[in-house]
Amino acid sequence: MNSSLASPSRFPGRGWFLAVLLLAAACRAAGSDASSSAPLVVPEPAGATADAPASATAGSHEIPDPYYQGLGNGGYDVQHYDLVLDVDLESGVIEAVCRITARATQDLARFHLDLYGLDVDQVLVRDEEASFEREGRELIVRPERFLPAGEEFTVAVRYGGVPEPAPDPGVPFVPGVGWFRTPSGVYVVSECSGAASWFPCNDHPLDKATYSIEVTVPKPYTVASNGILVEERDAGDRRTWLWRASDPMSTYLATVCIAEFDVVVEEGPGGIPMRTYLPTDATEEERAVFARTNEILAFFGERFGPYPFESVGAVLSYENLGGALETQTIPVYGRGADESTVAHELAHQWFGDCVGPANWQELWLNEGFASYAEQLWFEHTEGAEAALERGRGMYRMLRAANVGPPADPGLEQLFGASVYVRGPLVLQALRDAVGDETFFAILRAWVDRNHDGHGTTDAFVALCEESTEADLSLFFALLYDADMPVVPSLE
Ligand SMILES: [Zn+2]
Repeated sequence: MNSSLASPSRFPGRGWFLAVLLLAAACRAAGSDASSSAPLVVPEPAGATADAPASATAGSHEIPDPYYQGLGNGGYDVQHYDLVLDVDLESGVIEAVCRITARATQDLARFHLDLYGLDVDQVLVRDEEASFEREGRELIVRPERFLPAGEEFTVAVRYGGVPEPAPDPGVPFVPGVGWFRTPSGVYVVSECSGAASWFPCNDHPLDKATYSIEVTVPKPYTVASNGILVEERDAGDRRTWLWRASDPMSTYLATVCIAEFDVVVEEGPGGIPMRTYLPTDATEEERAVFARTNEILAFFGERFGPYPFESVGAVLSYENLGGALETQTIPVYGRGADESTVAHELAHQWFGDCVGPANWQELWLNEGFASYAEQLWFEHTEGAEAALERGRGMYRMLRAANVGPPADPGLEQLFGASVYVRGPLVLQALRDAVGDETFFAILRAWVDRNHDGHGTTDAFVALCEESTEADLSLFFALLYDADMPVVPSLE
C-alpha cells in the first residue's frame, strides 16, 4: 500500500511522510494490542458428519496472527480459487460462484471460510450438497462426509448480493477495505482483510493460492484483474473477461477493476505482457507517470533479482482512492499517483507480493522495503545528495515524534510512520554497515529463498547475520528499540 492510502487525505510527493507521522502520533495514544495465541486446530466433536472417525474435528476459525483475530481459517490449505462473477454496475449486485480447491491438513469434520456480508445460496463439497451456517465473517461448512487429512477437495459456493467494504481495525481511517463501488465503476483494494468482502476465502496472507477470475459486465465496461488475460468474449450487450493468475497470491492482493478504460498493451521484462488501464480522459501528464515502468523494473531487477511474475501492469482509477495498492502483477492507483508511487508499488512485487508477510505484524517487510526501494529510485533519479537531504528530513521527524519500532508498530498504527519511515531507515543502516555489494546480495537472497512464500523478521535477521560480520547494532536498534535511536550519519 502506498502511504497516502493510510492517510485521511492525500499528501502527494515528498510531504507524504509528514502525514503518516501525524497519523502515527495521533494513533500513539491509543496504544497497541498484540495478544492472541489461539491454536490452529480447535478440537471439537465431529458433529454432523456421520462416518467421521474420532480424529475428525473442526478446522480452526482463524490463523493465529499477533495483530488480527479471526482472519483466515485452519484445517486446510487452499491451492486454487476459481471465481466466476456477474456484475450489474447499475444495482451493484453480483451473482457469483467461487470454486475452491484445497488440501485438508487434518481430518476435517467441518471447516470455515471467511465471507463478509453477501448471501450464500448453496455450498457443495466434493460436488455433494453441504450444510452451512453464517457467524459474523465466518461461513461454517459441514460436509456430508469427513475430509481425510492430506486429501485434496473442492468447495463450490454460490453467493451474491451487493458487496460492501469490510471494516478493518488496521485501517481505521477508512470505513472499510475490499470491494469499492464508485461512480466510475468498481475497484478492489483489500489490504488487510477485505478479500472476504467479495469472495469466500481463507483470508490471511499465509495461505497463498493460484486464481482464475472470470467477470461478466455490461458493455462498454472493461475488466482488469491479476495475471494473464486469457480470454474475452461477447454475449449480446455483455462482455466476459477471463484472467488467470498462475503465481501463488495472497487473498488481499487479488483485484477486480471495472470501468471504461483505455488499455495500453506493451511488453514488460523478458517480453511478459504489460497492460496499463487508464481513464479514457487521462491527461498526457497522468499517462507519463507510467512511462518509466520498464526502466524502474530493470533498475529493481538488477538490485533485487529478476521480476518475479508472469505479467505486469497498472490500473489508474478514475477515483482518488486515497492512495494505491500493490495488487499482484497489476497495482491499483488512485487518481493523482506520481512516479514515486509507481516505483513503490512495483517494488512491492518483490517485497510483499512474491515474499509475503507471514502475519500482519511483519508488515515492515512489505512497506519498509517498498518505501526504501522508492528511496533508491529517488536516489537514482535525483542524486545521492538530494536523497541524503530527504533522509535527514525524515530522520528529524522520527526523532521529534520518537516513532516506535517497525518490528512491532501496533495494529492501530500498522500503516504509520514506524513501518513507512523508520522501516526504510533499518535497511539504510544495514546498507551503511555492510556496503552495497553485500546489501543487495542479502535482498536478492531474501527474495530467492522465500520466492512465492513468506518472510518473518526473525528469518530476515538470520539472513543478515549469516551474510556479514559487520557491526549491526544500529540496524537492530532501529528495528527493535522502543525509542527512536540516534543515527549519527543523519544528525
Ligand atoms: Zn506499500
